[in-house]
Amino acid sequence: MTYTANSERYNEMNYVRSGKSGIKLPQIALGLWQNFGDNRTMDVQTEMILRAFDLGINHFDLANNYGPPPGSAEENFGVIYKKHLRPYRDELLISSKAGYHMWEGPYGEWGSRKNLIASLDQSLSRMGLEYVDIFYHHRPDPETPVEETMAALDHIVRQGKALYVGLSNYNAEQTQEAVTILRRLGTPCLVHQPNYSMLNRWIEDGLQDVLDEQGVGSIAFCPLGRGQLTNKYVEKITAERANPTGNLKKEAYTDERIAKFEALQAVAERRGQTISQLALNWILRGNRVTSALIGASRVTQIEENVAALKAPELTTEELNEIDRILDG
Ligand code: NDP
Repeated sequence: MTYTANSERYNEMNYVRSGKSGIKLPQIALGLWQNFGDNRTMDVQTEMILRAFDLGINHFDLANNYGPPPGSAEENFGVIYKKHLRPYRDELLISSKAGYHMWEGPYGEWGSRKNLIASLDQSLSRMGLEYVDIFYHHRPDPETPVEETMAALDHIVRQGKALYVGLSNYNAEQTQEAVTILRRLGTPCLVHQPNYSMLNRWIEDGLQDVLDEQGVGSIAFCPLGRGQLTNKYVEKITAERANPTGNLKKEAYTDERIAKFEALQAVAERRGQTISQLALNWILRGNRVTSALIGASRVTQIEENVAALKAPELTTEELNEIDRILDG
């Protein structure tokens, strides 16, 4: 059947400028890390991607190694794109990355010019695209000079194979250096992709200041702590405490940890929300983080997460309460 996108899709989503750039990112983006390989049927993947787009999620985040197996998420996305989304190419932001292990030998990972250029060519071929919108260096390389990696990103943009570049998993100092080099080369960094959630607040300790000063946006990966900041996870750890199956480590269901999650759930419930919705409102508070990059295994999760954007901003009292819960 021919897909026609929901004509109301741009009313469902908020779009926020990424740093000091021309690009606005949807406040919620969909990542294809784990549920878009050969472990899910094409029907389920197609349904999630098209429903996401109908809800205004026009940004799909990939990487060379997403699957399983590595590469299959890009291949599957390519099939869905070709069948359904090609007419909407100019509305889409499609990102990919290189840096983690992808092929055998000395050039299959890290940050050499050789790795980045070959990897992006492979990604474009798997997805059947002429260019990606954002190409990231996926992780800092302790051995390759950062000048070489940044020059490769700049080259890729000049070749027209990516429109913008980004950095992922770079700490504050590494980001400062890389962003400065990119600007000098004439290819400013559009966005940084760090791990950030209520369970992992490392970016508040320096990185966010660098990004603000440098006018670089941010897109938080694992905003739900890889599925922990959800009502179903609280049920899971509570059930495990009552009746241990050995599927979870003991540290996961201590009384203290369960109390913390239950306290977050209570805040969410008072707001008429689920924990995942609260976690997304918290990430996006005050627009300091441009976008939250969710994963999903079913359509209803995407719907629930996008619905968080309709909730009122967190109040100062609620934010203080959440800090106390997380610090406790
Ligand atoms: P999340 O923290 O959003 O976790 C996603 C998981 O949470 C889903 O797979 C699902 O688990 C569960 N979930 C989501 N919504 C709900 C809901 N409403 N109710 C109940 N459960 C829900 O993100 P991920 O860890 O999946 O990462 C997201 C993306 O970030 C990746 O796809 C990738 O694009 C990017 N990423 C980037 C990295 C980097 O180094 N740059 C590293 C890791 C991720 P379940 O499958 O159990 O249903």
